[in-house]
Formats: sequence, C-alpha cells, structure tokens
Amino acid sequence: MGIKVAKFGGSSVADTIQLMKVRDIISSDPSRRYVVLSAPGKRYEQDTKMTDLLYLCHTHLVNHLPWDQLFQVVCDRFSAIAFTLGISQDILDLPKEYAKIREEMEKGAGADYIASRGEYLNSRLFAAYLGWDFIDAADVIRFDERGRFLAEPTNEVLSAELKKHKTAVIPGFYGADPSGKIVTFSRGGSDITGSIVARAAKAEVYENWTDVHGFLTTDPRIVKDPQPIKYISYQELRELSYMGASVLHEDAIFPVREAGIPINIRNTNDPEHPGTIILEKTPEGSMGVITGIAGSKDFIVIAMHKYMMTSERGFMKRILSILDTYDISFEHMPTGIDTLSLVVDSSQVGNKLQDVVDDIKRSLEPDTIDVYEDIALIATVGQGMTYRPGVAAKLFTALADKGINIRMIDQGSSEINIIIGVANKDFEEAIRAIYNAFI
Ligand code: ASP
Repeated sequence: MGIKVAKFGGSSVADTIQLMKVRDIISSDPSRRYVVLSAPGKRYEQDTKMTDLLYLCHTHLVNHLPWDQLFQVVCDRFSAIAFTLGISQDILDLPKEYAKIREEMEKGAGADYIASRGEYLNSRLFAAYLGWDFIDAADVIRFDERGRFLAEPTNEVLSAELKKHKTAVIPGFYGADPSGKIVTFSRGGSDITGSIVARAAKAEVYENWTDVHGFLTTDPRIVKDPQPIKYISYQELRELSYMGASVLHEDAIFPVREAGIPINIRNTNDPEHPGTIILEKTPEGSMGVITGIAGSKDFIVIAMHKYMMTSERGFMKRILSILDTYDISFEHMPTGIDTLSLVVDSSQVGNKLQDVVDDIKRSLEPDTIDVYEDIALIATVGQGMTYRPGVAAKLFTALADKGINIRMIDQGSSEINIIIGVANKDFEEAIRAIYNAFI
C-alpha cells in the first residue's frame, strides 16, 4: 500500500473539535502514515493565531516588556486542548515543556525558536493523543548557517528517519541549522514541510488539508459560489497564484513536483469532498477550456511608440537599464510594431514614476509616451486553451458585450494564459463576464 502524507493547516487544528476531526480523517485511511501539523490557528474571526501570539511574545521580550502573561495565554490554550483530549501529565508533561521554553526565552531566544513552539507543542500533543511517534523537525529539516534550506541533506536524513517509524507526527514550519539553532520557513511554511516529508516518504500523494474545497475557478468575493477546480497542473497553478489566487505556499510545490507526487487540497470540515488535485499534467478529458481566472488591481502601463523602433538596436536594453536604475521590476512587456508597453506594479513605482518617464524620454526619444494608471490585470488560465481556436474571440466578445475597454493584451508563449489589462473600476465586472462566458 502506498503512503499518504497529510498536512493540516492552522484552522484544521485550531481547537479540540478540529483535532478530533483530524483524528477521524487519519484513522479512516491507514495509508495516512505521516502527519504534519501547523500551530493552532484562529477559532473565530477576532481570535489570534498561536504563531502571532508567539511572535508577540518575542516582540515583548526584545523590547524588555513583560511577556509572561502573554506566554501564559499560549500555555493555557495548549493545556485546555490537552485536558479536553484527555491527555494526562504522565503521557505528556506540558508544564515541563513550558518551563523549558520559558528558560530559553529568559536566555534571549530568537523569534524563530519562539514562533516554532506553536507547531512543536501542537504536534507533541497530537502525537500523544494518537499514540503515534513524534519526530522533531529540528532533527530532520536542515538549514545552513545562513538560514537557507538544504533540500538534499534533509531528504537523506528524513528518509532514513521515516523508515524507523510506522506512523509519526512531525511539526511543520521549522528545522534547525548545523549548530542546532531553530530556523523557520516564511509564514505559512508548514505547507513546505508537508511537501518535504512527502518527498522523503516517497508518498503517492501529498494531502494538504485546509478549510476550503481546494482551488476555486475564481475569487468567491467577486463571483458567487464559483465552481471548484478538480484538477490543475503545476504550471496553471503558478500562473493563477502569481495573479493573486492563493491556498498553498508557493515554495511547497518544488519538493513534490520534482518527485512527481500530486498534491491534493482537501477540506477538514468536509472530508468527503475530493478537493483539488495538483499534478504535472491534468488527465485527458478532465479539462475544460479554461481552468481559472485570477487578477489584481493597481498596475501602471507606460506605453511608447517610436517609428522604426523594432530595428533600433539596444532599445530594449536601455529600457531595462532604466528600470534597473530605479530598482523596478516589470510584470509584462507587450510589444507591437513600433510600440512597446511596460506594465509595472504601482506599489513598486511609488513616487519614481515621473523620473522613470523622463529618463525614458531622454534616453530613447520615443515619438509618444503615455502613462495609464489604475490598471487591473486579469489572467485567464487553462491548459485547454492551447491550440484551441476562438478562445480569445470569446473572451473579447464577453468583455465587449459588457462595454469593457481592454487596455492591454498579453498571451504567454505557452498559450495557457491570456492576460488582459482593464481599468481598475472594470475589474470585478470583467472577471464576472469571463467567468460567465467560459464556466
Ligand atoms: N504557523 C505558521 C504560520 O502561521 C506556519 C503555518 O501555519 O504554516 O505562518
């Protein structure tokens, strides 16, 4: 039987009721042998995530403010979970664990150590509850002395360690450097740990359990009850995430993608739902014309025209060097005959816009240069669009029917993505129009 690695995010482990759901999910399938947990997340809207509380403890610590009461909130929350799950002190000595953390804090522990204790305590608790082994991520997830993750050494150590355990709970989010100092991934990093464990276990699937039914075809704040996505390829996911759709930490893709392991996003609150499967290539016949629509607002388009631009040597190079001077990266650069547009994120440009435009005028002497602010970009993504005629026509007709003016068009060479620019004010309406035309 193959192995499944199941990672449960903060909302899936927020309290006792959630942890009991997690137990039921795990015990319903014996191939779920390795479990990776986040720290408890929010139990209700105004609640504070455990990790945020722990970072706050650290902020108090470094600013010489009293942190003890704050840390007590952390301890009380774990103790309450242990109590309601029926884990007694002789199974897991929580007061001893708290004392050790307090001691480290008194010695001036770093932010990474303190923040990681949410995952650590939660996983210790849950391992005790299940009667499973606990593997400390500090012993198997390796970072170098500069805090960079070491993929291969980790894979070696972790694979060997997993072989020693039939079942185990492993905390997400952190590992350790060669001196044993705790290092965390960036926020949301338990997704990465899950992926690393799946690779090391040679799992048949990496299940990522969260509180949604996987990826939706578009933003539910814009389209009511959008259809869920059943299958999505890594490349489609990358394109949609880049444009703002997010469920999974971006860095969680690499370990499993390399190993050819699919990711299955599932909902802890609705375990029967199949969720979304992310894989290299979506199965034949499963795909619609488009897979998803995502976008974001607030871009700037700098459009220039210069007669015979295309035959002018070094034109592009000079533009790039101007952007470099102002430390601005561009999102897209659609070109036409004698025209070129630069699409940049307005938060990157800040108050440098006029200087950039002046430099372009001076250095490139375009015949015209126009700046359009308040532009939104919308990506329509789908493997099914490749080689299929009429997709662009359908998309543009849908927008034209709503009277939406398209300010820019860019289709990547892979043909799985058409990006359009519209005015910020048309953003939501344009997404709805595209959704209704294709889905
Ligand atoms: N607990 C960490 C965070 O809130 C990591 C995670 O949950 O993935 O960012």
